[in-house]
Amino acid sequence: MSPSKVSTIKFDEFYNIIDGEQRGSKNQHHGIDPTTGEESWGVPIGNQQDVDDAVVSAQKAFEKYRYTTLEKRKELLQRYVDAFNSHSEEMVELLCKETGKPKQFAQMEVGGVAAFIGHHLTLDIPEDKLEDDEKVITTRYFPLGVVGAICPWNFPLILSLGKMAPALLTGNTIIIKPSPFTPYTTLKAIEIAQEIYEPGVVQVIGGDDKLGPLLTAHPGIAKISFTGSIATGKKIMAACANTLKRVTLELGGNDASIILPDVDVKKIAPEVVMGAFQNSGQVCVATKRIYIHKDIYDEFLQEMVNFTKTIKTGDSNSGSLLGPVQNKMQYERVKGFFEDTKAKGYKIAVGADTVPSGNGFFITPTIIDNPPNDSRIIQEEPFGPIVPTQPWDDEEEVIRRANNTNTGLGACVWGKNEKHAEAIAKRLEAGSVFVNSFEKPTPQAVFGGHKESGIGGEWGKDGLKAYCNAHVIHLYKQK
Ligand code: NAD
Repeated sequence: MSPSKVSTIKFDEFYNIIDGEQRGSKNQHHGIDPTTGEESWGVPIGNQQDVDDAVVSAQKAFEKYRYTTLEKRKELLQRYVDAFNSHSEEMVELLCKETGKPKQFAQMEVGGVAAFIGHHLTLDIPEDKLEDDEKVITTRYFPLGVVGAICPWNFPLILSLGKMAPALLTGNTIIIKPSPFTPYTTLKAIEIAQEIYEPGVVQVIGGDDKLGPLLTAHPGIAKISFTGSIATGKKIMAACANTLKRVTLELGGNDASIILPDVDVKKIAPEVVMGAFQNSGQVCVATKRIYIHKDIYDEFLQEMVNFTKTIKTGDSNSGSLLGPVQNKMQYERVKGFFEDTKAKGYKIAVGADTVPSGNGFFITPTIIDNPPNDSRIIQEEPFGPIVPTQPWDDEEEVIRRANNTNTGLGACVWGKNEKHAEAIAKRLEAGSVFVNSFEKPTPQAVFGGHKESGIGGEWGKDGLKAYCNAHVIHLYKQK
């Protein structure tokens, strides 16, 4: 069987890709351009039949793909990167249209695909051997089968292809479900993959709220890798229990950033602001609570304010640093944090006391000065450009405050004395702690959350095991 061929890639027509073929639907929905509030192109809504067909195709493809060599899988992934990159300009435009991101950040995400997949090409699938007088024990890691990838809307390309790379490298086949808010780049990215892969190895189905549960319920899917909210993660884990699917859950966070008194205030304050407001705060590991030592609190906050005032918010091509929030639902949710701030009379250091109304979902980046511990803005993840700061005095107490949350995705510690900063970092209950940097997830290390921020992790060498069953042969020596 040779790789399937879909017709020339067109960036204004969108299809699900099932068994190597474009598939439309009578039922369509539309993404909304977050810059204008207008409807974008129609996309098909996948249904039970589509899921069933995709699973049959993926299972069939698995029987052959699982036995490809690691070298072959790497060669195919490299060819995919080349094919994807040949469409990078159209991808940047499409990503700007579906997310509203500033163009330079859309370029970083599109460029990041090669880096993400590229790092996976340097990895080998782990294998352990242990020998004693009577036997040899060999532990190998074999693919699970058909993986279902359920993805969010904040980084539609990186977070879907970031699941595809380890799944395919380890010999699985995969069905990707993009968020209904951002179907476009993922549908195209997987359409491009059909030039490289045989039908069923990598497929994509977009749809509405009913589609995710069809994947989690399907007995032919061996594993769900999910990135999204904690609330949905819990539903997914419960649904997957029925068929005992493997699950990886990459969920939300409420990351603390601890600023030690010895930092270079002028240099670090703008970086801490970027940690909070990158991608308009719509980053699972964005900084969401900022704890500044009391000796430098006023000065550090003032520098944060000065930098925030320079941040331009606007459409993708305006040279701005921040774009709109991606969708109306999220815009309304973030608005709730502004309303709460105003109603409770918390002090606004910079920004606005309300979100601007208009057709696009733009929100002015805003810093709340020292709200109480039980405030919504401290307790919950806003996932938008609004962040609180609080002073601290006692190191033990600030570590307790940072850890006092049901989440544990990321955290930051900033201080000139690296040893001291790292000692604090070790005590923060989070999957990824950054010392003297804001949160920058990378495929070089496993990424996962503690507590309610997730189950398991992916990326990096250890992340490959999330797509595998351990398989052990105990070979007893013939005397
Ligand atoms: P969401 O949970 O609303 O949706 C994520 C995906 O799940 C979408 O594709 C959606 O259609 C699907 N879905 C919804 N209900 C489902 C169900 N019952 N069964 C199966 N699938 C279902 O999340 P979102 O709003 O798209 O993303 C924002 C959240 O994701 C934030 O909380 C953020 O912190 C988190 N996030 C986490 C990471 C991480 O790696 N840990 C990365 C990005 C975003």
